[in-house]
Amino acid sequence: MPSSRRLTAREIKKISIVVPVYNEEENVRLLFEKIQAVCETIGDAYEVLFVDDGSRDRTFAVLSELRKQKPQLSVIRFQKNAGQTAAMAAGFEFAQGQCIISMDGDLQNDPADIPKLLEKLEEGNHDLVCGWRKERQDKFLTRRVPSIVANWIIGKVTGVPIHDNGCSLKAYRASVIKQVPLYGEMHRFIPAMSTVVGARIAEIVVTHHPRRFGKSKYGLGRVWRVMLDIIAFKFIISVFTSRPAPQKPSLRQRLSDVLFRPKQRAFRVAAFLSLPFFVLGRVLFGSANSAALSCFGLAIALLILGWITENKIQHAKKASATLGTLARFFMVQCKRRPLRFFGPVGVALFGLGGVLLLAPVNSFFLKIFNVGSSSLGAIFIAGGIFVFCFGLFGELITYANAKRVKDYTIL
Ligand code: UDP
Ligand code: MG
Repeated sequence: MPSSRRLTAREIKKISIVVPVYNEEENVRLLFEKIQAVCETIGDAYEVLFVDDGSRDRTFAVLSELRKQKPQLSVIRFQKNAGQTAAMAAGFEFAQGQCIISMDGDLQNDPADIPKLLEKLEEGNHDLVCGWRKERQDKFLTRRVPSIVANWIIGKVTGVPIHDNGCSLKAYRASVIKQVPLYGEMHRFIPAMSTVVGARIAEIVVTHHPRRFGKSKYGLGRVWRVMLDIIAFKFIISVFTSRPAPQKPSLRQRLSDVLFRPKQRAFRVAAFLSLPFFVLGRVLFGSANSAALSCFGLAIALLILGWITENKIQHAKKASATLGTLARFFMVQCKRRPLRFFGPVGVALFGLGGVLLLAPVNSFFLKIFNVGSSSLGAIFIAGGIFVFCFGLFGELITYANAKRVKDYTIL
């Protein structure tokens, strides 16, 4: 939980600026100089942490050279590209300041906004101040429109209505951000995730510049990934967050309390999810046996999954516990993002099951193989739902273990 005692302007002893960089050779020197110029005017001690995320160009060489001249600069280097989130997490872990600022390393964020962010952090008793690129200087159709839609959905789904989750320029109270588990590509969900540890969030408008040197590291593929992330984070937040109960709960609130009670545990969620399948199995029993059996099978499989997940989460919470086989599988095999892997597989199985249930396909199967495809369809649909849920529960385990996962090596 964030400390109840707030820092005031005079109490800040050190500011840490964390900058993840991947192939930004033309940008890093210029950016450091701009950050330095701004920090000198603030008057507090500061450090700048550049995290080289396995760059293949001269980024590390330029930073090493710069480091010889600048004692305020520290460089963390990943041997391989581990992603912006891992780079930011490494920076947060090594930061020594009471206040941390994160920003992109491509000069699109403006260091001149740092004092404004710090002021807001101190003034409003906030733990996190997010930058809002109101006049965003990126392509309209491929970048700004998807971002507006994604931010709207994230706001609705997570209940944290931030205009610009994707803006890296943010200020954090170190004691709070260091508690937020970061894994996968969840740097875009820092505001929503911070609410899990009770963070108080504000936002201010910041300047944004077009990219002058180097290329953006993300394409349109991120739209699909962000959509899966939204589902995963809603699930995680629902299981882990404790929200104060409203005075007079509405029907909707009461329903959501049953489904996602504060500190709801994985097994209870699984039990709730499996309930409709038990009922459906019972209704279908007799008329369509294979469909009924698939429903019963799915319900039982979900319960077992919830029970295993629950146990793994409990293990992950005990510092001394070693990671279980399942947790290890999710973290190593699925590149730490179970839903990224199992989500599409589950959707594909579900779709295939739906196609097999169609009447023309069924009669085609009857003609050729002398068996209908509808029973196979029911099994595929149940399998698809199970595989998707497997990915979701895997996200819970990965989240619970995130603090103990080291994605990076420090050179
Ligand atoms: N970045 C990183 N690792 C990656 C991808 C990006 O450290 O795998 C850094 C990148 O160098 C930049 C920041 O993250 O400093 C944001 O990336 P980018 O500017 O490509 O994103 P965009 O502004 O296009 O959303
Ligand atoms: Mg950029």
